Amino acid sequence: MTPAATKQASGLFVTVNGEPTPLTDLSWYQTAPCGCTCAVTLAETEWYVIATEADAWRRFYEDDDPSLMKRDQERGYVLDLDAISKVKERLQVRCPHEPKWGVPPTPGLEGFAWAAPSALNVRRNARLHLIPADSVDTQDWRAPYPDTACGESPRKRWTAQRWDTAGRIECSRCLRVATAAVSA
Ligand SMILES: [Zn+2]
Ligand SMILES: [Zn+2]
Repeated sequence: MTPAATKQASGLFVTVNGEPTPLTDLSWYQTAPCGCTCAVTLAETEWYVIATEADAWRRFYEDDDPSLMKRDQERGYVLDLDAISKVKERLQVRCPHEPKWGVPPTPGLEGFAWAAPSALNVRRNARLHLIPADSVDTQDWRAPYPDTACGESPRKRWTAQRWDTAGRIECSRCLRVATAAVSA
C-alpha cells in the first residue's frame, strides 16, 4: 500500500501579539488608509506559503497592473499578519468612512465611463480610459473607434464590467480631463 502523498506544513512560526504562532493559523490582512481591513488571504495552505510581507503584497496584486500595488502602498494601505479566527471581526464589507477606504473616488466625466479594452489577452498594464458611455459594452462590430477623453483611441471595443476594470489604473491624461471638468 502506498501512502497518499501529503504536503507537509512549512513548520514556520511567526510571533504575533507576543505569541509564537504557526503560519498555518495566520492570515495576511490588508488595511486601507481609513483603518478598515479590506482584504485577507491565508498565510499558508496546502498549495502555497506566504511568509514575508513582500510576498504577501505580490499575492494580493498578482493579477493587477504592477503599478497598482505601488500606488496603494503610497496611499497608505498596509499589510499585517493576524489570526485566521479574527477574520469576522476584522474584515469590513462596508467601510463607513468618508471618503470610502480613505481614498477620494476617481472623478468621472458626464456622458463617459471608465472602461478597459475588451479583448482577449489584454495586457495587465493596459490603462482605463474615459470612453463615451454609449460606446461601452456595445456589441456593434461596425461602430467606429470611440473618441476617448484623452484623444487616444487604442482599441475599438471597451468594457466597463467590474471584473474587466478591476486591478487597472486610469490613463493619466483622461484623469486630467475629468479633474479639470470637476474643478471647472
Ligand atoms: Zn473605512
Ligand atoms: Zn485616456
